[in-house]
Amino acid sequence: MMVGVGTIELGYFDAGLLAAAAVALGVSLQFSVTSLRPPRNSMHLAFAILCLCLATLALANIALDNATTSAQAILAVRWMCAASVLSFPAMVWFVGDYTGSPVRGIALTAVSAVTLVFFVANLYSPSSLLYSEARLGGPTRLPWGEVLSSIEGTPSGWGITFHALTYGVFAWALHRGIQQWRHRNRTAGLLLCICLAAQLLALLWGDIVVDAMGHPYPYLDAFAFQSFVLLMGLSLATQLNSRTLQLERAMRELRSEAETRREAEVDLRHVAYHDALTGLPNRPRALYMLADMDADAVQSGMHGAVLMIDLDNFKTINDSLGHQVGDRVLEAIADALLAAAPTDATVARLGGDEFVMLLGALDSDPDAAAALAIDVARHLVARLALPLAIDSRMLNVGASIGVAVFPDAGKGPADVLRCADIALYAAKDAGRSRAELFLPQMQRAADARLELERGLATAVENAELSLRFQPLVSCDGALAGAEVLLRWQHPLLGAVMPATFIPIAEETGLIHGIGAWVIAQSCHRMREWQQRGVDFGGRLAVNVSPWQLANPQFVQQVEAQVRGAGVDPSALTLELTESALLDDFDAALDTLQQLSAVGFRLALDDFGTGYSSLAYLQRLPLDELKIDQSFIRLLQPSTVDPLAAFIIDVGRRLGMLTVAEGVETAEQKALLEALGCDLLQGYLISKPLTETEYLAWLAQRNTPASADKVVSR
Ligand code: C2E
Ligand code: MG
Ligand code: MG
Repeated sequence: MMVGVGTIELGYFDAGLLAAAAVALGVSLQFSVTSLRPPRNSMHLAFAILCLCLATLALANIALDNATTSAQAILAVRWMCAASVLSFPAMVWFVGDYTGSPVRGIALTAVSAVTLVFFVANLYSPSSLLYSEARLGGPTRLPWGEVLSSIEGTPSGWGITFHALTYGVFAWALHRGIQQWRHRNRTAGLLLCICLAAQLLALLWGDIVVDAMGHPYPYLDAFAFQSFVLLMGLSLATQLNSRTLQLERAMRELRSEAETRREAEVDLRHVAYHDALTGLPNRPRALYMLADMDADAVQSGMHGAVLMIDLDNFKTINDSLGHQVGDRVLEAIADALLAAAPTDATVARLGGDEFVMLLGALDSDPDAAAALAIDVARHLVARLALPLAIDSRMLNVGASIGVAVFPDAGKGPADVLRCADIALYAAKDAGRSRAELFLPQMQRAADARLELERGLATAVENAELSLRFQPLVSCDGALAGAEVLLRWQHPLLGAVMPATFIPIAEETGLIHGIGAWVIAQSCHRMREWQQRGVDFGGRLAVNVSPWQLANPQFVQQVEAQVRGAGVDPSALTLELTESALLDDFDAALDTLQQLSAVGFRLALDDFGTGYSSLAYLQRLPLDELKIDQSFIRLLQPSTVDPLAAFIIDVGRRLGMLTVAEGVETAEQKALLEALGCDLLQGYLISKPLTETEYLAWLAQRNTPASADKVVSR
């Protein structure tokens, strides 16, 4: 019975061999592909080589079955031997990897060397590796009538050794398979053992039944190998599949981890770029956005604007009603700004009570853009001027706004923000609760301020600061000392008044050094005057900034200064303003009590302009109450200001001396005297004088009575 394959006709046996070869080739191809794809797998490569050898063996077997001459039969056997010899190292390599202890290094090199020797021997021996001499044998007739050629001859020494080695390799592989079955992977081990057992049976069949007993049956090795190709292929494919599943699971886990990380990153970025209280973008984010809008504006030629918004009364509310109320106010302001903002505007909180609104693409003409922005700003000012309902209170917060248009040639986003800030200062200076557009001349004012800031830092060491002394007298003309007032002679700007530079000194922190210098100078003057026997009323009053008072070291420092100069603390009156008490009343009270305990006299300056309550006033260890000039100015002969009278009365009741500041006219003096005011200070008595002028003023006046009489209350 024959099967036609084109022009070649094959019997069932050979057709089976051909199918086996095709399967082995297919599997070989598949595993060479998987072995080369990353991650590379050397076991798959070994298996692919093994399958290729088996396919060659099967094809050579077909050639032998159909040989018609001895030469053809010997050539076929030579191919069969070559395939078997080459399958040695592939088999060792594969089984080593498959059973979990790879064979590499010297062992694999030795196997490869033996393989090479046998390969060469097979190539050069006249009748292949197996026979010393061989020829075409008698045909083998299979039960279904198929006739197969065979070979017969004298077995060679090489052939016998090769057989022995083959059994050796099988024994080793079987041992590995059993070990794997027992100790590692039962299924994989069992599959390997089944394949090897089938192969061993085929080998024994060929060697014993066909060769030794001489039965006319064909060799079955190529078929037996089929189990190897299929079962091992199956096992490897299953492993591959489970590894793919593992990989997919790992990929899924990685993807979900990446997603979690991305979400965490988004959260972090939100925290980093948003204000925790209001949820609005914060300063860094506002700067980024402004930089983007500025770049867009440069490209499109459309102008945008920055609105710098600062609350007018926030500090007072925060200080007097507490931070919790302050926070609520900020939240309410953020809501109000968002509600009043044009649709595509961005609102951000820069910090404290400072907000910013960014308006993009308003108009291609900068003036038109400025006009639109100012409109928005005025609308916001009006909106923020409305009282805010916080809990049960209605609070008037109010806001001032500075507006700057961008892009502005040569100005980056930070410069635009600074321009808006300068315009904001101008709005505050102009009376608050209003909006101002940045104008170039404002820059000059800001530059001048910067110049002052720079100059002030070196003013003390450059001896640009000096003191003026303004006398204090009782109503009957007795001298009660003088108030020390600071002056700054700027090398370029000339005389700068304290109202201009003290706030700058406070903002820059220079006030501590400057304040200490004033106290030191005052002490030295008093010491010197005492030594020269000058009658200066025994006392000087110095102004102390709230920032100095808030310094925890202030009491020790000023005490050390006074004692170091050899002056009694009671000779120094420290003038404080009500704002010094606002931030933390208890801390301020503690400091004042310490100062009083050291012996300093304490005066509350500009009384009546701040917010301190009478209850607070009662608790303070004050010696003097200085009535602000604004109340004195209101004193007319026709109408006596009830507030001045009231303050004098309060001072008297609390056991304090009352001092009237800014007394300019004899009428004011007479009225104050009638109201029972203790001390007077003002141009009527004297303007602030230089030391020389003050000494001259002291020398030429005729002291009518002792000042001690007046100040001893
Ligand atoms: P102040 O302590 O209330 O000082 C009184 C201010 O009123 C002084 O202004 C003085 O020149 C001015 N003055 C005195 N009599 C009259 C008058 O009859 N009419 C008018 N119109 N003004 C009069 P000055 O010297 O410009 O000082 C302003 C403020 O600067 C001071 O107010 C004080 O708060 C602060 N200051 C001055 N020197 C120092 C200092 O050394 N340290 C600190 N921290 N502040 C100082
Ligand atoms: Mg004063
Ligand atoms: Mg004053």
